[in-house]
Amino acid sequence: METIKNYINGKWVDAECTSYKENFNPSTGVILSKVPISTKDETNRAIEAASTAYERWKNLSVATRCEYLFKLQHLMSENFEDLSRTVSLEQGKNLVDARAELKRTIQNLEVACGMPMLMQGEKLEGIASEIDGEVIRQPMGVFGVIVPFNFPAMVPFWFLPYAIAAGNTIVLKPSEQVPLTMQKIFKIIDQIGLPDGVVNIVNGSIDVVDAMIESPKIKGISFVGSSKIARKIAEECSKRGKRYQALGSAKNYIVVMKDAQLDKVVDSLLTSCYGCAGERCMAASVVAAVPEVYDELKAQFVEAAKKLIVGDALNPDTEMGPVISQAAKDRILGVIETGIKEGAELTLDGRDIVVSDELKKGYFIGPTIFSNVTPDMTIAKEEIFGPVVSMVKIDSLDDALEQIKNHKYGNGASIFTQNGYYARKFEMEASAGMIGINIGIPAPVAYFPFGGIKESFFGDTKAQGKDVINFFTERKIVTARFFKED
Ligand code: NAD
Repeated sequence: METIKNYINGKWVDAECTSYKENFNPSTGVILSKVPISTKDETNRAIEAASTAYERWKNLSVATRCEYLFKLQHLMSENFEDLSRTVSLEQGKNLVDARAELKRTIQNLEVACGMPMLMQGEKLEGIASEIDGEVIRQPMGVFGVIVPFNFPAMVPFWFLPYAIAAGNTIVLKPSEQVPLTMQKIFKIIDQIGLPDGVVNIVNGSIDVVDAMIESPKIKGISFVGSSKIARKIAEECSKRGKRYQALGSAKNYIVVMKDAQLDKVVDSLLTSCYGCAGERCMAASVVAAVPEVYDELKAQFVEAAKKLIVGDALNPDTEMGPVISQAAKDRILGVIETGIKEGAELTLDGRDIVVSDELKKGYFIGPTIFSNVTPDMTIAKEEIFGPVVSMVKIDSLDDALEQIKNHKYGNGASIFTQNGYYARKFEMEASAGMIGINIGIPAPVAYFPFGGIKESFFGDTKAQGKDVINFFTERKIVTARFFKED
């Protein structure tokens, strides 16, 4: 069991708070970490350190700032397996998913190493006689980064490398449910010689977030988590004139047309619906199929889902691990009850899964499938964030597009079809931020923006890609003229 520390001004420090949260290995129920619920004062000290560091850091050349990231890329790659295993251990996703997460984490670092080009401005000479116009990009100061439990390595790296390569400094609050991964990554960061205060971690919960919101020294906040808190971040930041990008909850549709290749659909459903035990913001949770394929798809999907190997996240044979905590398990079981009460048919019931004697304290739910779900049911309307899928029958592509449009969330949506007309119509009209065509998890790679629409996203510049460079830089427009000396 590890007592988690904060990392402030280049030093590991014991938290001064008196309140702690205990976390357990979700596969075994054995205690793993004790996380301090740090105070506003501790957070303010980290913000102060980041603010002092900013004055020197912003003046280093962008290439020099990136040299630190190159070193970090090298060391994180050397520690790839250890970091992946830490993600599996504390988060519960299997090793395949943890390695995929680490790959994306490092990919973001690599993209941020291109900051000498990404941060370039634009110049247009001769906007009027002997006058030139120019856009320059400058760092802004200290940013707060607040992240969820489901991607303990990757989501912080949607922001951290870009923010600091652009010349800003940061205070990061990891999820209090999965603090070990960032402890390990910051032990690596500690070896690359970054100036003190450029990156800081304060562990905790609401007080850390509120201190960031309230501090005039925080120029902006990057948040990922549930929509309720994303909305709070958006509202509080806009009241105070801060920048924000707040990524929220999801309910992602996979639409299956009659010409879809069903074997490929089923393979994609298994990874999309049950990878990370359904705890992905890009997990498919509603499968909407036309009547011509609905029954056949249901039969094949249920058969395949039954065969998934559920077990300890660290066992190389495991295809699906546990959910994050007992509280999450109880909540998901409650939602399954609601589905039954509201009249959906529980076609595959994962509630009573017995994995093994040694894992009887783990937080397991087996693959679960509801069919005959209608859009008005709670299981279709709300994010479940577990291995529970709703199958919906649709009359047509228009019917599916209407359901997606009416949903409050709009993170991802995919279609399976061989028909170019359907695919293009879906791409143009589906009301979601990230679209897949014959792709189960249309999660953009690091050099594209990542983010949804509607209540899945608050703000206007998304994570990753060119958007995040805009978020972490102030664009100044210079209009200049020089007079000839007489
Ligand atoms: P959460 O909203 O409970 O927590 C997210 C962060 O907010 C954590 O760091 C937490 O400590 C903090 N927090 C919690 N309550 C708070 C409060 N009242 N005030 C201020 N801060 C608070 O989310 P979670 O359970 O950790 O993560 C799951 C959610 O994240 C899901 O809804 C999922 O869809 C979403 N998510 C979205 C994306 C995306 O790209 N849109 C990516 C990953 C996860």
